[in-house]
Amino acid sequence: MEQPEEIPPATCTLSIERRGGRGEAGAVAVARTLEATPGVYEADVSFRTGSVRISYDQSAITRDDLERLVRDHNVTVRDETEPDTDDVRTRADLRREAAFVVLTLAGMGIGLVTGWRNGPQLLLWAGYGVAYVFGGWYGLKGAVETLRHRAVDIDLLMIVAALGALSIGAPFEGAMLLFLFSLSNTLQHYAIGRSRRAIRSLVEMRPESAQVLRDGAEVALPIDEVEVGDVFVLRPGDRIPLDGVVRSGESAVDQASLTGESVPVTKTPGDEVFGGTINESGSLEVEVTRQAHESAIARLIHMVERAQSEKAPTQRLIDRLEQPYVLGVFGLTVAAIAVPLALGGEFASTFYRAMTLMVAASPCAVVISTPAAVLSAIASGGRQGVLFKGGEHVETAATVDAVAFDKTGTLTAGDTQLTDVAVDDRRDEVATEDELLALAAAVQARSEHHLAKATVAAAAERSLDVADATGFRAAAGKGVRATVGDARVHIGNRSYFETTLADAEIDGFERGVDRLASLEAEGKTSVLVARETNGVVRVLGWLAFTDTLRPGAAEMVAELRSLGVERVVMLTGDNEGVARRIADEVGVDEVQAELLPEEKVTTIEELVSRYGSVAMVGDGVNDAPALATATLGVAMGGAGTDVALETADVVLMGDDLGKIPYVLRLGRKTRRTLTVNLAIAFGAIALMVAAILLRGIPLPLAVVGHEGSTVLVSLNGLRLLSYR
Ligand code: ADP
Ligand code: MG
Repeated sequence: MEQPEEIPPATCTLSIERRGGRGEAGAVAVARTLEATPGVYEADVSFRTGSVRISYDQSAITRDDLERLVRDHNVTVRDETEPDTDDVRTRADLRREAAFVVLTLAGMGIGLVTGWRNGPQLLLWAGYGVAYVFGGWYGLKGAVETLRHRAVDIDLLMIVAALGALSIGAPFEGAMLLFLFSLSNTLQHYAIGRSRRAIRSLVEMRPESAQVLRDGAEVALPIDEVEVGDVFVLRPGDRIPLDGVVRSGESAVDQASLTGESVPVTKTPGDEVFGGTINESGSLEVEVTRQAHESAIARLIHMVERAQSEKAPTQRLIDRLEQPYVLGVFGLTVAAIAVPLALGGEFASTFYRAMTLMVAASPCAVVISTPAAVLSAIASGGRQGVLFKGGEHVETAATVDAVAFDKTGTLTAGDTQLTDVAVDDRRDEVATEDELLALAAAVQARSEHHLAKATVAAAAERSLDVADATGFRAAAGKGVRATVGDARVHIGNRSYFETTLADAEIDGFERGVDRLASLEAEGKTSVLVARETNGVVRVLGWLAFTDTLRPGAAEMVAELRSLGVERVVMLTGDNEGVARRIADEVGVDEVQAELLPEEKVTTIEELVSRYGSVAMVGDGVNDAPALATATLGVAMGGAGTDVALETADVVLMGDDLGKIPYVLRLGRKTRRTLTVNLAIAFGAIALMVAAILLRGIPLPLAVVGHEGSTVLVSLNGLRLLSYR
């Protein structure tokens, strides 16, 4: 279904019960029927990770409808409000699966030994019976589940192959197939469970209760009952229960769980602390700023879960091909029986060869090759404080040829400082610098911009009386305005006054612009402050700021070069003078200054057409459109605004620019792993099929080759978990 342009699609992610097996064809069939429902744009269903992700038209269908719809397709939806029980259940499932594998092995052993020793037939068949029942249990469950959705998958292929072996008097080969099949499935579930647990463990790191101050006394409250504005107390060694701002005290906080950064960060009054991180050295009193379910860590978990449910393109393709491929293998098997028989071949050997062919040609390793690698990569990134919002973005990261950085808040630390306040001395309206600063702070108290924060902080430092402002309005990349008292106050750069206030008469603009130019020559970011009364705008004075480069920014750019990135560009809304100064310090190839948000987009578009694949790194509201346009949008997680976080494909939780080369390296490593995995998977199939057709190989060898490649591919993918 085509999606109309005006209404952005909503998405929802549901957890579902996984039912045995390794096939995804059934899940693809469910996705297809969901997509046929009006109001649903796209559905990704994965039995493997136990998730359904749907993007839909909110005006046509609700989340509840969708849940019902999924249930109607015979898929059990899990109650998401109990994440912990989910984990316990997964562990219990794994233990049972492992027990089944052991029973299969035991049954197979009894059958084999009894056969060798010419023992009683009853014991022999009891042994193989046990092996078939326990080895085939989950596969059969998976195959039946898929058949219920009117599709066939590799589980069915395996079950038929085992029964085929049994029917030609090769019970041992069949049992071995089922044993290896269930063993490698258990390994896979363990691997996927491990990636999921790496993320789940974040939840466990959050304490259940907080020591809250109520009427001067400390009470322990469950975190869900703590309100915004409450103050809680932390002692050295405590895990921080909720997000908040330090009110008093000083301490070092270990934020590794959130940002992957192991060096503790010093926190003093006014600093933000995050739930799930550890207070190390001192005592703190913290005022809660977000409720438990909105905390940074809750958002992180939510985003990673979404990431896991979003299939990478390679994987989507492979999953969609599973069913036709399986049908192809069935067809091949039938042909391998019918053709030789028609030519007068002997039945037993023909059938044996057909079974061998069927096992060898099954695409189990192909199907698992991608998720094993991509899920591990996402989990590994998560541990380093790098959040990929989907498997797709891991693959994209491998292709990046040019990187564009926003300046303020991205390359610079965002701890902008006010350096100059000056009153235009020909004005009698505001007498002092303090008055001017207080006026500016009143407006900027409403803005999220770094310049705004610096202005407000400077006013607070001078203990100025800051009035309340109303009617705040921002022109992204240019400036802001609001009403203070009975006049409207404007703060902005040259382009703000020239474009946004194009129709107004501006008194003192020439002198103001002159001052801005000389401040810019000193490498300072500067803005004019003006007041509007009766339709006349009068420039009152100007403010100037400096910001400092993030530590390691220059090294990071050098590392990008050594990775073969062809072009590094800096994009900024700030003035040319500041832009040059910063650009020289970091050593970028190209600077583009005084850009409006939409000009950042055009610049990215140009870069894309020149270099093909472009990453954009940014933090602000004004970067969001560019982040969306870039091939790979990267947002600063801590400093970043919500819009930037929402729009980006990758989030750097710790604002650590040093992680950008890591993102590219991880992407490339993942792509290499995928290539190797696919080569192993298809190589094993091609080799065995050729050998069977040319000279014939024993069934046990095909079984080992088939399952061996499946295990190999899973383990190879799992290696990415520990990539640094
Ligand atoms: P960058 O692209 O470097 O992150 P922005 O696009 O956010 O910078 O801002 C560009 C310019 O717009 C600033 O240098 C400043 O001149 C002006 N500006 C933006 N927001 C504000 C604000 N809240 N107050 C004053 N000036 C602002
Ligand atoms: Mg910025």
